[in-house]
Amino acid sequence: MKCPFCGEEMTEGYLESGRVFTWKTKDVQGKKREYLLAKSYMGGVRLQGMVCLNCRKLILDIPENPV
Ligand SMILES: [Zn+2]
Repeated sequence: MKCPFCGEEMTEGYLESGRVFTWKTKDVQGKKREYLLAKSYMGGVRLQGMVCLNCRKLILDIPENPV
């Protein structure tokens, strides 16, 4: 896959964490929001994705129904 930012070829892999991946953001009112993207009770949780080492970007696949 070509990087959508710089056009270089991306490398496939996964991002690994502890037991959960959360996405933290703020809504339009500025209130903090947290979304649980993935969790695992058996070891680390992984998100599959592509990395561009040229412009230092990650594109990740998240579960269709985050838990
Ligand atoms: Zn790139």
